[in-house]
Amino acid sequence: MRSFTYERASSPAEAAAAAMRTEGARFIAGGTNLLDLMKLEIETPTHLIDVNGLALDKIETTTEGGLRIGALVRNTDLAADERVRRDYGLLSRALLAGASGQLRNKATTAGNLLQRTRCPYFYDTNQPCNKRQPGSGCAAIGGFTRPLAVIGTSDACIATHPSDMAVAMRALDATVETVRSDGTVRGIPIAEFHRLPGDTPHIETTLVPGELITAVTLPKPVGGKHIYRKVRDRASYAFALVSVGAIVQRDGTGRVALGGVAHRPWRVEAADAEMPRGAKAVAERLLAGARPTDENAFKLPLVERTLGAVLAEAKG
Ligand SMILES: Cc1cc2nc3c(=O)[nH]c(=O)nc-3n(C[C@H](O)[C@H](O)[C@H](O)COP(=O)(O)OP(=O)(O)OC[C@H]3O[C@@H](n4cnc5c(N)ncnc54)[C@H](O)[C@@H]3O)c2cc1C
Ligand code: SF4
Repeated sequence: MRSFTYERASSPAEAAAAAMRTEGARFIAGGTNLLDLMKLEIETPTHLIDVNGLALDKIETTTEGGLRIGALVRNTDLAADERVRRDYGLLSRALLAGASGQLRNKATTAGNLLQRTRCPYFYDTNQPCNKRQPGSGCAAIGGFTRPLAVIGTSDACIATHPSDMAVAMRALDATVETVRSDGTVRGIPIAEFHRLPGDTPHIETTLVPGELITAVTLPKPVGGKHIYRKVRDRASYAFALVSVGAIVQRDGTGRVALGGVAHRPWRVEAADAEMPRGAKAVAERLLAGARPTDENAFKLPLVERTLGAVLAEAKG
């Protein structure tokens, strides 16, 4: 592990300003992803800005009837919040499908959105990886691809985004609130937050350097049945091969997002309109243009079957 300096930020604006002052600075929240990456020297920040002392750990009702979730709200607390369990069950279920109890006690809302991919070659510093080292190549293409993406891929990267929580946030139309180093604030719709890899897979979000996430806002509840179904190789403590997050209304309409298939939580709004027609129609819309490999082509029928199970559960 490389040496680094450390400071505790005193306000969100100060944290963002500090990140711009020092080349190679990074924020640290729960540290459950960043510290692992530092130990492997995949991430080598020169300076850590600890944001844990900032008062960003509250869940508040908004005047529009939604929820404002502070960036530092721990995954455990968010999943257990009475309002989340009642009105945003999809979010609670997605959170509880991720990691382990111990990890969720530390992991934060912002850190979860920004966790890095679990592509095995990203973690193997002996292998080329455009995400870890831009321009070095992609060892996954032509390699072991079973857990990797089937849609939205590029010739530079076929990694997936590993977050379960982000899939729920995408289906719920969340907005990510931020502050920049000059003190300006903005709200980024979750649909525009995570990027596809293109030829710059190392740039994973639309955040600008030094921009700090302060909260995630959810619009007012939409009702319906909230279901999160995660298919994985082990029953717990494993990332999704495929996951389906869905909100289904009594008349069969609703919305759906996928995890484990793309570089970002995958939602195609036109696919929502197909929900009354069943899983096949929805899957066809969601996965139009998919480019799976021989090893991960199984994800396409797996999406359709998992969707089928979710829609049957919603009816049931
Ligand atoms: C063994 C293991 C299994 C796991 N399984 C799952 C799983 O099944 N599903 C799942 O979804 N996740 C899983 N995770 C990932 C876990 O959810 C993430 O590690 C966690 O959510 C990251 O949150 P954190 O607060 O610890 O982030 P940190 O590690 O502190 O930070 C992560 C990134 O976010 C940045 N950051 C943090 N806060 C801010 C902020 N406010 N503004 C801007 N940038 C910020 C940091 O600079 C860093 O780049 C697993 C992790 C482990 C170690
Ligand atoms: S798929 Fe992406 S993360 Fe994996 S090796 Fe290729 S460039 Fe790196």
